[in-house]
Amino acid sequence: MSEGKLFIISGASGVGKSTVLKKVMSGRSDLLFSVSATTRRPRPGEQDGVSYYFVTKEQFEDMIAQDAFLEYDAHNSNYYGTPVKEVEEKLKRGHMILDIEPVGAFNVLKKRPDAILIFIEAPSWEELERRLRGRGDTPEDQISMRLERAKWELEQKEKYDYVVVNDQAQACADKILHIIAQAADMK
Ligand code: 5GP
Repeated sequence: MSEGKLFIISGASGVGKSTVLKKVMSGRSDLLFSVSATTRRPRPGEQDGVSYYFVTKEQFEDMIAQDAFLEYDAHNSNYYGTPVKEVEEKLKRGHMILDIEPVGAFNVLKKRPDAILIFIEAPSWEELERRLRGRGDTPEDQISMRLERAKWELEQKEKYDYVVVNDQAQACADKILHIIAQAADMK
């Protein structure tokens, strides 16, 4: 069987990416999520090995030394990285969805120029800020850091293949599924 395609999905904290991605992947055994490693603490409900591999700074730095990442980056005071094994193994079984921010996205693109970049945007800046605060799981100092970063991330959207607005989660998921279907056909 030929390899699946890599879809990289980015979007600022609070844009509603996890909800949209759950809808995109629901009932689709051919779409596999790339579980990243991170040094950030789990949020309520997040499971190790499902949302992320939650590791210590030392463990993460060991993985860097062992060249275990396809890409990694430090942002929001933590490390985040895509284990190369995750991608290699899962691509044999289907298409992959990587939820990573723009620095990581562009680094993956250097190694995998066939990757497809999708940017999820909030309907407005005010709405993004409202969603991030409304989530209630992020401390205030993290919120201002994340909003600062979101401004820069938004400036990167021109470099993406597709930009989809998340005004309604299911509609946004449907647009992404359409992009995936088209790209999968182009094989
Ligand atoms: P959060 O802490 O809200 O789960 O994620 C913060 C940011 O890290 C998000 O923009 C998310 O896309 C990004 N991220 C998650 N996993 C990775 C990864 O493996 N590599 C990179 N570069 N960014 C990641």
